[in-house]
Amino acid sequence: MLLVAEPLLGAEERAAAVAVLESGWITLGARVREFERAFANRHGVEDAVAVDSCTAALHLTLKALGIGAGDEVLAPSLTFVATINAILYAGADPVLVDIEGLDSPLMSIEDAAHKITPRTRAVMLMHFAGHMADPGPWRAFAEHHGLLLIEDAAHAIGVPGVGSYGDGAAFSFYGNKNMTTAEGGMILMRDPELLEQARQMRGHGMTRTVLQRLVARSPHYDVDMLGFNYRMDEIRAAIGLVQLSKLDDMNARRAALFARYQEWLGPVMRRHKGLQVPTSRSGLSAHHIMPVVLPETADRDAVTATMHDAGIQTTIHYPPVHTLSYYRARAPLIRLPLTEEFHRRELTLPLHPKMEDADVRRVVSVLDKTLTRAEETV
Ligand SMILES: *Cc1c(COP(=O)(O)O)cnc(C)c1O
Repeated sequence: MLLVAEPLLGAEERAAAVAVLESGWITLGARVREFERAFANRHGVEDAVAVDSCTAALHLTLKALGIGAGDEVLAPSLTFVATINAILYAGADPVLVDIEGLDSPLMSIEDAAHKITPRTRAVMLMHFAGHMADPGPWRAFAEHHGLLLIEDAAHAIGVPGVGSYGDGAAFSFYGNKNMTTAEGGMILMRDPELLEQARQMRGHGMTRTVLQRLVARSPHYDVDMLGFNYRMDEIRAAIGLVQLSKLDDMNARRAALFARYQEWLGPVMRRHKGLQVPTSRSGLSAHHIMPVVLPETADRDAVTATMHDAGIQTTIHYPPVHTLSYYRARAPLIRLPLTEEFHRRELTLPLHPKMEDADVRRVVSVLDKTLTRAEETV
């Protein structure tokens, strides 16, 4: 079965994990610190805070920025629920925004502008499929309206400029992301003091970690804020350091596969009107996933089943948050027409660095045949 996503893990990751087990220090310590510095360096910033998930990273970023009860945060509905859940954990109200269009499924700045109220405090961007939201317009928008700018950068690790054009950013190292530690996340923040607050909140709000107390030869610590246990451990940090060293190669392979898809889907798009490959206006991408928009009349479930029978997994990104029961019960009246149309027609094809060009060729050919057969039966 050709899967939609698969991690690229090898002997180096295994050796790194085993070295931690043999070292005797397996929880937050020197390797986590090294991973934070290396990740920050790779993204052109001073420092970073490693946590145990992107969801935790989003939560701490919002908390450090002082977003809470009574505040509204603009966010796309076309995202994974964690983006919205983090806003709810912080006690703030998410205000869901439509996308730009089927060809560019990132949050619409025009729709965001319509949804500003006196309570709006922040905008949460999400770099859908790895396509980075355009920094210039969003920074201008945030400055003009006096809003904080936050990036859910779970899809966009390694993209030039990602994570540093807003006030804070959160990354994910979950198993299907562009680099992985199995579970894990990272925080970047513009203000170094706020980043230190996030670091302290990660470990129960304690003023000193176990390692710092050991080094200082003093058992004392204070707690001067409400913290959480969002720590990353040494095993994950060691794996993360190896994955980070491979990131550029893995992202380059994704970009090459995406280019093959675009090339070979060209003739298929001319045969099947309405079939599209969405991108974004910034032109910068980590190519995290490979979404296509199917022709208006295509029966997506039939396409999925036929491709599955041919040994090709496909999936859907995402069921819009405002259509899922829990969120619909909170805000039943929301309609986001472009998001809903995108979701109705979206199909995610396999894209990961283990794939060969021949895999892309096969996916495109099966999709072409499947759509042709579907049209003949209509
Ligand atoms: C994966 C993902 C998350 C959550 O990441 P975790 O590390 O699993 O918490 C958040 N937002 C988006 C857009 C994601 O794709």
